[in-house]
Amino acid sequence: ERAALARYAARPAVTADGTRVELAANIGTAAEAKAAAEQGAGGVGLFRTEFLFMNAPAMPGEEEQFRAYREAAAAMDGRPVIIRTMDIGGDKALPYLDLPREDNPFLGYRAIRIGLGRQDLLKVQLRAVLRASAFSNVKVMFPMISGLQEWREAKGVLEEAKEELRRSGAAFDERIEAGIMVEVPSAAVMAGAFACEVDFFSIGTNDLVQYTLAVDRMNDKVAYLYDYFHPAVLQLIRQVIEASHRAGKWTGMCGGMAGDPLAAPLLLGLGLDEWSMEAGRLGVIKKELSALDREACRSLADSVLTLDTPHAVRQALEEFRRAIG
Ligand code: PEP
Ligand code: MG
Repeated sequence: ERAALARYAARPAVTADGTRVELAANIGTAAEAKAAAEQGAGGVGLFRTEFLFMNAPAMPGEEEQFRAYREAAAAMDGRPVIIRTMDIGGDKALPYLDLPREDNPFLGYRAIRIGLGRQDLLKVQLRAVLRASAFSNVKVMFPMISGLQEWREAKGVLEEAKEELRRSGAAFDERIEAGIMVEVPSAAVMAGAFACEVDFFSIGTNDLVQYTLAVDRMNDKVAYLYDYFHPAVLQLIRQVIEASHRAGKWTGMCGGMAGDPLAAPLLLGLGLDEWSMEAGRLGVIKKELSALDREACRSLADSVLTLDTPHAVRQALEEFRRAIG
């Protein structure tokens, strides 16, 4: 069984009807990029850069960041590597940043909100990402975007970083793609407006579920309510994918749902373009996708999106899976 999955992991991801699917890995360090490449990742869909900051005694400078991003990108050998700007706050503290104590850290000063509050730090990170883009296929992504204004401000800092590098003669990819994580419901609701401006979306189901259903993702007492198969979450996911496609853009998913084989037929049917997960999940998901027919999955998605409880959704997905053996 293990050996069979390892064989799947090494191949490109192709569905039974011959559709190629982008399967990528979530990583937290450059070293993990190497391991992910060995496990058959077609790229990195989420580089959680906050670990670079959390594992350091002081704020890493531009050179140190640049080397880490270049190393991770090099391990992927030309395949896309999506670098997410730091997602500090919430449950992730940074001792040397002196963040305020908050009653509701997950609703507070977190991720892009810190990036825009401390544009000096965001700028250094974006310069490092841009410089890495001179060497390989690097994209940049902003976490926790809740409205157009935040995205435009973040994009503005990216443009400033580009201008500084141009002036100093430093090389970078002028056509670097910039996208947002969709993990706050307001961003999903506004996907049509975002789609005209961003290059791509990546759905972060870990937070999207928490914020859509008002369920703390770390509280066992309410864990029974935490479910990405909730119809409200599914409608948001569909809305994001459809909005991106109408604008000629693509949508990935880097939350835990992407690594769940039960979700694979539904996500394929909804038109998801890229799956990103812990590298250890790649074999299982590739095997699952290889058994799927896209048309059949489209019909499945249409009918599943009419269901009104997570339980009914799970039942329908389990039944579908049993039927294809
Ligand atoms: C998510 O929220 O789904 C996500 C991928 O980001 P993180 O788990 O790092 O918050
Ligand atoms: Mg998140």
